[in-house]
Amino acid sequence: MPEPSVSFPLRHTTIPDPTERQRKQLRELDAKLPSVCVLHGAPGTWTFRARLFSVPRVAYDDLSWPRKVLHDQLPSNRRKRRTERRARMVWVEDMRWAACPSCRGYRLVRWTLSLMLAALAAYLVTGPISPLTEWIPESPRPLLVIPGLVVTIAAIKSVPTIRELTRVEIPEDGTEMVVRNPHPAFAHEAIALGARQLSDMVTPVGWLKRREPF
Ligand SMILES: [Zn+2]
Repeated sequence: MPEPSVSFPLRHTTIPDPTERQRKQLRELDAKLPSVCVLHGAPGTWTFRARLFSVPRVAYDDLSWPRKVLHDQLPSNRRKRRTERRARMVWVEDMRWAACPSCRGYRLVRWTLSLMLAALAAYLVTGPISPLTEWIPESPRPLLVIPGLVVTIAAIKSVPTIRELTRVEIPEDGTEMVVRNPHPAFAHEAIALGARQLSDMVTPVGWLKRREPF
């Protein structure tokens, strides 16, 4: 079944004296955002500010994962890839999205979880030199750094919730902003405010489909 995605028009920035980069890559919404939240269609009791951007495809995305691993070995490759993406990225600033109490609750839970993960990461990473880990025998203590780094990455990755609360994808041409599968109440209000209904399913190309044959 096709997802009832909606798409908001974007226009080039109208800020005074934009830099060259802002003129090319900064967009603003050419319609108003609904007053209900994306996930539940409930009236927003608070709003949050979001800055969302497109993720342009680069040649790297088409590599199979072993090649990606190889490619990542060179820091200059990683830098080049980042520069290439940044050069074609389109971003929209300063949007105010509505969120209902359950959206807020979800965000709070995620923040709490991230804080706990961060505390655990700090405990593990400082394990080898911290008095808190004296109950662990001396020799395996330096090994705590390894799970510590894994938990650090998990903590960092678990912080942002904006993509989940907005379900936004910005196609590469930067003419519109797609909200995937919003609550019908959100879609309804969005269309009244100038968004358009997308008839076909918007499917992001997953990593499985991106893989090239070995
Ligand atoms: Zn909500």
